[in-house]
Amino acid sequence: MSALHRRSGNILQHRNGDKKDMTEKKRAILIGIAVLLLAFAVGWMVYSQSYKKVSISQKDNTTIEETKNEEENKAEKETVEAASISDKESKGKKLQAPKNLLVMYSEEGAVISWKKVKGADGYIVFRKGKDGQLKQLVQVEINTYTDKTVKEQTAYRYRVCAVINSSEGMVRGKMTKGVAYFHAQIDPDKPMVALTFDDGPSIYTPEILKTLKKYHARATFFIVGERVSSYASTIKQASKQGCEIGSHSYSHANLGLAGTAAIKKELNKTEKKVKDVLGFHTPVMRPPYGSIGDDLRKLVGKPMILWSIDTLDWKTRNAKSTEKKIMSTVKDGDIILMHDLYSQSRDAAKKVIPKLIKKGYQLVTVSEMAQYKGFVMKAGKAYTDMKNGKKK
Ligand code: ZN
Repeated sequence: MSALHRRSGNILQHRNGDKKDMTEKKRAILIGIAVLLLAFAVGWMVYSQSYKKVSISQKDNTTIEETKNEEENKAEKETVEAASISDKESKGKKLQAPKNLLVMYSEEGAVISWKKVKGADGYIVFRKGKDGQLKQLVQVEINTYTDKTVKEQTAYRYRVCAVINSSEGMVRGKMTKGVAYFHAQIDPDKPMVALTFDDGPSIYTPEILKTLKKYHARATFFIVGERVSSYASTIKQASKQGCEIGSHSYSHANLGLAGTAAIKKELNKTEKKVKDVLGFHTPVMRPPYGSIGDDLRKLVGKPMILWSIDTLDWKTRNAKSTEKKIMSTVKDGDIILMHDLYSQSRDAAKKVIPKLIKKGYQLVTVSEMAQYKGFVMKAGKAYTDMKNGKKK
């Protein structure tokens, strides 16, 4: 700061020396300019300093936020690290991620179960609650646990990893790839259906969400990746109230006909967008036009969800006809296809949600319905309804 101060002082002296006949007014103007220059210089220094500070703190914030958003990733990294240590320690004894993670309802709470992992001495169950943080819930010796602390009207996500006791203490294995959802309100013995909305989000989505919330109902939104940034808050709100966000490709491409490079691009770009907003990946995918080919089956990496009731809402653009189609054909385990891209579909949703509930249907997400109906959905497989699952 002092170097700049001196320089502006020199300019003032130099000019004063040249023009000795300067009037008081001119001198005052020059002094004013000098003061301004000085103020600017000081201001610039402060600005540039605080700018540096800002950029540093921005970096810090980003790191903190990333850590928050990727809490589960962090836990995953830890377990992966732990697993690699355990590999050395136990001479190739690898602890795989538990498979077939499932949550079922019971009167006592959420019953979480998974397939036994070879060589495991026990398991750690993690739960992600309302605050989005993944926390260790319990360590158990068998491959099931009943979480009795679940509260009504709250959605939970669970993950599990296996553990072994080595000479140097406990070592964790890999975390389950997916998460298991549980909503503490569903009675699996009562009928349920999954409303699904494609091609959004749009300006009509928030009203559908409001109606769902009003009736403690949930739905699955198969979003188009290129719309995510414009509707980030809508997607957050949907997830917050227990709705499920599924992938519907990035640009609504026909992935059944696309090549592997295009499929990967369409899927990965959407996943990145959703992860940035929600902090986790989409658990399910709906191929645009219901179009599935062998390449998509191989690359999709998650269950593909089709439908059992096609409302044709996009074609008729008639709320009454959509409502009639649903109410006259609906059965337990149906997956209902709608589009939250049209005002008429929003109008239909507002009518149909209370009507279905009045008829005794529980409105759940696709993943919830699969769990409650005893479906173990597999990556690369397509599902049109949840009518013939094995109830536990
Ligand atoms: Zn679509």
